[in-house]
Amino acid sequence: MMMKDQSHLAEHLRIVVKLGTSTLTDGTSGLSLSRMVDLVRQMSRLNGEGHEVLLVSSGAIATGREVLKFPQLPKEIPAKQMLAAVGQPRLMDQYGHLFGIYGLTVAQVLLTREDLRSRRGYLNARNTLLALLGQGVVPIINENDTVATEEIRVGDNDNLSALVSNLIDADLLILLTDQEGLMTTDPRTDPDAEIISLVDTPEIDPVLWEMAGGGSAIGVGGMVTKLQAADLARRSGASVVIAKGDTRDVIIRVVKGENLGTRFLPVETAVESRKRFILTGGGNGKLVIDQGAGEALLRGSSLLPAGLLQVVGDFGRGETVTVSVEDGKGIGRGLVNYKVEDCRKLCGCQSNEIESRLGYFYGEEIIHRDNLVLL
Ligand code: GLU
Repeated sequence: MMMKDQSHLAEHLRIVVKLGTSTLTDGTSGLSLSRMVDLVRQMSRLNGEGHEVLLVSSGAIATGREVLKFPQLPKEIPAKQMLAAVGQPRLMDQYGHLFGIYGLTVAQVLLTREDLRSRRGYLNARNTLLALLGQGVVPIINENDTVATEEIRVGDNDNLSALVSNLIDADLLILLTDQEGLMTTDPRTDPDAEIISLVDTPEIDPVLWEMAGGGSAIGVGGMVTKLQAADLARRSGASVVIAKGDTRDVIIRVVKGENLGTRFLPVETAVESRKRFILTGGGNGKLVIDQGAGEALLRGSSLLPAGLLQVVGDFGRGETVTVSVEDGKGIGRGLVNYKVEDCRKLCGCQSNEIESRLGYFYGEEIIHRDNLVLL
């Protein structure tokens, strides 16, 4: 299937720009104001042209380190959380000042995976971001590092930016980094490395996943997290571009459709809003089903308890779980109607036995087809 990228043809785009630490510091150990002012100028211009621009910005930890004059600290999470707590307001200060030059107001939005996982959190975050855009404000999003423990955090801002793109139905996600884009080999060791300018197949080639090893020195994300982000965002109907942050007018040129960096075309149809929500669910539970149930799901049926073989992990009713067929391949993700203990009790039973086994009934499906996204 060939896909066409028409995102730049629309008049007003909803654009998520992700700036990594290496871009914001321009490879130094502190924020580079000249780099930031250049990027802010570009985003402000696009905003002025009627595009909606959201920024996912890293750099809180690096800024905290700079503010505290590079203290010697243990490598543990609390030290990083402390640095983020110091750095985040300074970072916002700078953005507030720089966007202010162009007459724009910024808003700080700190998220964790948890906020996007529950249905309520999802709707709240979405509504807030859309309300900010409605006021012409530039939302600046980061992970809420000071409270984000291992279990609830996204962990890297590439994936966070994809979750945000999904949350607000972005047309375009631009991931700026210190490399030209996705390369055929590692440019630091191979002078013949070439840029891959277009990914237009619905599935990202496994070879590309392999090539995406490595990463830059001070950011969290490498190319792997960028590919993960691209994969998720394009499934939500966004075009994704990975490009080098110090290329002249890079954001503006990418938005105009110029061939810069690596562009991933959206996977053809935008997933409807409810399905987006399901894909952003970070639940780690897994339902293993038999071949027959797997085929039925592919034909558009719901998942019934009769096909359920095994229940893995821990989850509550309404959480997102992965559905895999016996051979282990994940075929979908969905919102599960019954909590983990209940699912265990229901393995293999008929739908009309649910009530007698549990003493209550939330519906005859383990996952209703409307709440299932096939991958
Ligand atoms: N949230 C982290 C920060 O602001 C960065 C995470 C990332 O770069 O992916 O410092």
